[in-house]
Amino acid sequence: MARRYRGNMNGERYLANASPSKREVHDLDNENTNCQIDEIIQAGNDSPYNSLEAARRDGYDNCAYCIGGSTR
Ligand SMILES: [Zn+2]
Repeated sequence: MARRYRGNMNGERYLANASPSKREVHDLDNENTNCQIDEIIQAGNDSPYNSLEAARRDGYDNCAYCIGGSTR
């Protein structure tokens, strides 16, 4: 479990799942196996963010496993 340098990721702390059915942001420094980060990258839905605030501004919900406090 670590930051990724593949797909669209280049070491950013946050990865947002751009899949229209998901729309969640993950904290790679606190990753949980339930996040399925590698599956997101494999599907091409990974969107990199350096700040949680920026991801939230773009409409992503917090992942319940690695960030918590989901607004859904
Ligand atoms: Zn997560």
